[in-house]
Amino acid sequence: MKAYVLQGIGQLDYTDVPVPELKSGWALVKVEAAGICGSDIPRIFQTGTYHFPTIPGHEFAGSVADVFDEKDRAWIGKRVGVFPLIPCMECFVCKEDAYEMCRNYDYLGSRRDGGFAEFAAVPVWNLIGLPEEMSMEEAAMLEPASVALHALRRLTLTPKDTVALFGLGTIGIILAQWLHIFGIEKVYTVGHNSKHGEIMKLTASEDYEYLSAACPDGESLLTEDVVTRILEKTGGEGVSIAIDCAGTSETLTNCLNSVRPKGQVLAVGNPKGNIAFDKNSYWKILRNQIRLTGTWNSTFCHSKEDDWHQTIEACCSKELCLSELITHRLDFGELKKGLAIAKDHLEYHNKIIICP
Ligand SMILES: [Zn+2]
Ligand SMILES: [Zn+2]
Repeated sequence: MKAYVLQGIGQLDYTDVPVPELKSGWALVKVEAAGICGSDIPRIFQTGTYHFPTIPGHEFAGSVADVFDEKDRAWIGKRVGVFPLIPCMECFVCKEDAYEMCRNYDYLGSRRDGGFAEFAAVPVWNLIGLPEEMSMEEAAMLEPASVALHALRRLTLTPKDTVALFGLGTIGIILAQWLHIFGIEKVYTVGHNSKHGEIMKLTASEDYEYLSAACPDGESLLTEDVVTRILEKTGGEGVSIAIDCAGTSETLTNCLNSVRPKGQVLAVGNPKGNIAFDKNSYWKILRNQIRLTGTWNSTFCHSKEDDWHQTIEACCSKELCLSELITHRLDFGELKKGLAIAKDHLEYHNKIIICP
């Protein structure tokens, strides 16, 4: 089969490899759509995967081509989404069904071979059946959409809340959609590209505000300016919830300074480097009794209530609009072009999907 094999940092080979062999409990998935995740860029070009060679790609969907065990034969031919985290099932958090925090997990596309290939081996436990009406490209976005839902579920959220959302990448925009689904009316989103703002308004709510934080260099967020504007818009009080989807010192500082006393700050974005805030901002955590919360991954435990099932339901009821985030649909052979667009910002992009 054709696959993209990471041989070393920045060394991604498009090559022929054997179709993965199955063992008991595993299925072979024919990949029909795979998304490029923001985290794939540092993984492929800076840090590498846990070992080499590895086939990257953790956001993918397809149909089951084969299974190892007789008892799993009903899966063959089924259209499936794939939860990429393989829990150990034995550590103390797994025993609490909190698999997203497993102490000893495996991961498709970083710790073992993933979805940038014609076929991927996936434990049957990690498969989720897809409804007819869900497209493969939507199914390839179940992971980021579930991560966004999981993040919001860390908060105490009521329709009265006012929210500031910093960072409008894929997860940020989907988070805005979930805020709308949860009935939140007042949301201020901050990004550095007005096209992200347009997609956010189109898919979440026209009524959500987009505040531009574009610098002349197009990169960092203008800290004080954005916070001042949010404080003005909330009559000087600040928002009750501030969410950082960018993972930078600036955006986390913005969160601390735009939230009201007793407010909640949610850290979502993967950090790009060390995160530091000045003393005054730190004082805000103490004096304003701010609740700072983290979130990681998503829940998948074969229950209707888990993040993945809830996400599928919201897609099918058209409350969640994932396809609108796709700016590029590329052939399987064009993955490197997609990675270059995401890495070097060669052209406007949001979600880039590869279709083998
Ligand atoms: Zn991802
Ligand atoms: Zn575990």
